[in-house]
Amino acid sequence: MNSEKTLKLKEIEREIKLCKKCPLHRTRKLPVPGEGNVETKVVLIGLGPGYHENLQGKPFVGAAGKFLDELLQLTGLSRKEVYITNIIKCYLPDNNPTQEEIKTCTTYLDRQIEIIKPSIILTLGNVATSYIFQKFGLKLESMRKIHGTIFQISNLLLQAKIIPMYHPAAALYNPGMKDILRTDWENLKNINQKL
Ligand code: URA
Repeated sequence: MNSEKTLKLKEIEREIKLCKKCPLHRTRKLPVPGEGNVETKVVLIGLGPGYHENLQGKPFVGAAGKFLDELLQLTGLSRKEVYITNIIKCYLPDNNPTQEEIKTCTTYLDRQIEIIKPSIILTLGNVATSYIFQKFGLKLESMRKIHGTIFQISNLLLQAKIIPMYHPAAALYNPGMKDILRTDWENLKNINQKL
């Protein structure tokens, strides 16, 4: 039987599939609302679908996704245990959304967070980190300074740990980053069991 959370998330998926609120709908093939375990404590937020995600309608299925699987394993998590979504739900050919696109599309993300009520939010990369930090009133500093650090937030809607991480794709452009990412994720080993 579908849980109430599943039904509510399915309704958001339906809206995203019909969405024409910004120009990105014109160049998308399949929108990527997000997927994973709706009862999870852990939500991952990336930037937006690339080439492969656009064709498959699923988040992180390209090269960055392969590395993300390795990182999840280092933390003792699997895709089945987490929910993965993005700031932008439609194909982002240049990885560079406008402020207007972010503003429009994150209404979906805000609702996804409200429904799932995660106790851990991992923000992958600059755009997801700066959106979530702003949303929860955290002081944003450079990724170099804050990556891998745990920030506790608590408000009427949500109590959660926010953990900014470098985007897995950063290691594809700069292989020297691979070990930094691995160390950050390894440091979170079994974090979901410690809550
Ligand atoms: N990069 C992202 O930020 N999200 C995806 O879904 C895939 C690649």
